[in-house]
Amino acid sequence: MMSRKKLQDNLKILNYELLGKLSPKSKEYFYEKLTKNLNTVFDFAFSAIYIIDKWSNSYKLVSSSTDVLNSQVDIPVEKSSIVKEVPQGIRIDTIPFYPTEGPIGIMVYGINPNQQSIVDNEITLIIKEELERILSITYQASISIASEQKHQLLYETINKFLVLTNKTDILIEIISSIQSIYPNYDVNLLLSQDHDNSLNLPIKTIQLSDQTVSSQAYLTGEVQIEIQVEKKDTCIYAPLKGHQGVYGVLQIIVPNMLKLQDEDLDLITKFSNTAGLAIESVTLYQDSNHLVSDLRLINDLTHQLNSHLQLTEITRLIRDQIEQICHPDEIGFIYNKQGNGTHQYDVIDGSTNFFGTLKGHGFIRDAAREVLERKEAIFSGDYHAGGGKIPYRSLMIFPMENAGLINGFLVALSHETYAFTFDHFKLLQSIIHHSTLAFINAILAEKLQKAASTDYLTQLFSRSYLDEKINEHMAKGEMGTLILFDIDNFKQVNDKYGHYVGDEVIKQVANIIIQNIEEQDIAARWGGEELAIYLPNTDLNTGVQLARSINTEVENFTDPNVTLSAGVSNWSNDVEDTARNFFIRADKALYEAKSYGKNCVVKYSFKEQVIDS
Ligand code: GH3
Ligand code: MG
Ligand code: MG
Repeated sequence: MMSRKKLQDNLKILNYELLGKLSPKSKEYFYEKLTKNLNTVFDFAFSAIYIIDKWSNSYKLVSSSTDVLNSQVDIPVEKSSIVKEVPQGIRIDTIPFYPTEGPIGIMVYGINPNQQSIVDNEITLIIKEELERILSITYQASISIASEQKHQLLYETINKFLVLTNKTDILIEIISSIQSIYPNYDVNLLLSQDHDNSLNLPIKTIQLSDQTVSSQAYLTGEVQIEIQVEKKDTCIYAPLKGHQGVYGVLQIIVPNMLKLQDEDLDLITKFSNTAGLAIESVTLYQDSNHLVSDLRLINDLTHQLNSHLQLTEITRLIRDQIEQICHPDEIGFIYNKQGNGTHQYDVIDGSTNFFGTLKGHGFIRDAAREVLERKEAIFSGDYHAGGGKIPYRSLMIFPMENAGLINGFLVALSHETYAFTFDHFKLLQSIIHHSTLAFINAILAEKLQKAASTDYLTQLFSRSYLDEKINEHMAKGEMGTLILFDIDNFKQVNDKYGHYVGDEVIKQVANIIIQNIEEQDIAARWGGEELAIYLPNTDLNTGVQLARSINTEVENFTDPNVTLSAGVSNWSNDVEDTARNFFIRADKALYEAKSYGKNCVVKYSFKEQVIDS
C-alpha cells in the first residue's frame, strides 16, 4: 500500500496533466477524466461526480464509471437514493466538496472489500481538497473563456444593429441577443415611446414616477441596481441612451442564486448604450421618412386645392385625406357666420350625418364656444369622460383661421377612446392650416354666386339663373314643365295702395309659390310682377294642377287681394326642341289666359295648344 502522501501526489500529477488538456467545450471530458483519475489512484470499484444544479435544486450526475447510480438526485443526498442497487460487498460513500469558486457537488465512490480498511478520513480529506482545488482552477479558466464569448456576441449584435433600419427589428434583436448572452436572466424592455403591442415581446411602456428605480435610470441616464425585497434577485436597470435622449430602460433580473459579476454589469452597460444608439438612429430615420411623406401629402393636397374652386370638391378632397389618415367615425366642416356680434354656424355639405342631428347641433355650439375661447386646436382621447354628452370619446377640432378671424372649424370624432395619435393630430393640423384659405374662398365664392342668382325682393332665383338651369336640364334631362304667372291688374294695386304695398303683394305671392314647390323645383322672378316655376322631370298636367292650386291660394290669401293668370308649357326629349321655344309656348299660354278673362291656367303642350279654364 502506497503512503497517503504518494497517493495524493499521484492524483495531483494526473490532474495536472488533465488541466493541460483543458479546452472550453469539453466539460464532460473534464469530469470523465477527473473520475477516472480518482479510480486509478485509489482503486475504487467505481466513482462518480455530482454537481449541484441551482435551478432544479438537485444534484446532477456529470460523470460516472458505473451505471448503478441515479442520474438525478434530489437534495439532501442520502446514499440510498444515489444507488439504484447496491453491488454485493461494496461500501458506498460520498465526499461533499465546496470550492471557494466554482461548482459545489459530491463525489460518490464504491470501495471494494479489500480496500475498505485503507480509505479513511484522511483519504477522503485528500480527495475533497484536491477536488476543490482543481474545480476552482477550472472555474477561473471557464469564466474568462465565457466572457470572451460574451464579448464576441456583443460585437456581433452591434454589427447587426448597423444594418437594421426598422425599429421593430432592432427591438427584437436587443431582446434576443441579451437573452442569448444571459439565458438565465429575465429581460424586459421598458420603452418611452409607442410600440407595436402585437409583437409578443417582453416590452412595456415605462411608467415615469419619482419612486421607481426604472424611472431613476430613465431620468438620470445612469445604470441603477435594485435588490428585490422578497426574492433577493438583483434587478439591473440599464438606460437605452442615445445622443439626443433616453429611449427606454433595459430591465435585467439576475436570480439570487446567480451572482452578478462586475464584468457582466460592465457588459450590460455597454450593450444598453449601443442599443440606445441603435434605437435613436432608426427613430430619426423613420421620423425623417414620415416627415417627407407628410410634406409630400400636404404638397399634393395644396396643389389639388388650388386647381379646384368648388366648395363640394374642396370638402371632398379634405375629407378623403382625413379618412385615409385616421379613419374617424365623423367629420364635420363647420362655417362660422359672424354678424351683429352673434355667431351662427353652417354645417357645410360634405360633413357626416351626425352634424345634422339635434345632438350634433348642440355639440357644434359647445365646440364652437371652446374653439373661440381657446383659439387653438383641441385634441382629446377621452372627451367628456364623465358627462358622455355625445357618443364619441376621441375628438380633434381644428379652427380655420384666416387674417386673425376664426371662420370655422373642422371636427373629427371617433367612438373609441384614444383613437387618434398625436402624429395624426399634427398632420391634420398642418392640412387644415394649408387648406383653410381655399375653403374660405370657396364659401365666399358660393355666397357671391348665390347673391347674383337671387332676386333681392322675393328671395326667389333670378331669371338668368332660371334660364341657365333650364338650358342645363334640357341638355341632359328627359322632360320638364314651366309655369309662368302674371299678377292680374297689378297696375291698379299700385295705383290704389302705392308701390310699397305692391312690393309686399309680390312677396306674398312669392311665399305662396315657395311653400308649394319641391326641393328640386326652381322658382324665379321672371320680371316685374311675373313669376315662374320650372319643374324638372314633371309632366304638363302635374304642372297645371300645381298652377291651379297656387292660383287658388293666391286668390284666397293675398292681402290686398290679387289673382294670377298662368301659362304652362312642357318639353320632352322625344321631340327636337329649344329653350327659346319652350319659353315662347309658356308666354303664349299666359297671353291666352289673360285673354280668356284672367285668374285661370292655360297649358301649351309641345304637341298642341290646349286651352284650360
Ligand atoms: P294685367 O297683367 O292683368 O294685364 O294687368 P296689369 O295691371 O298687371 O298690367 P301690366 O302687366 O301691363 O302692368 C304691370 C305693372 O306692374 C306695371 C308696373 O308698374 C308694376 N310693377 C312691375 N314691377 C313692379 C314692382 O317690382 N313693384 C311694384 N310695386 N310694381 C311693379
Ligand atoms: Mg306683366
Ligand atoms: Mg300683370
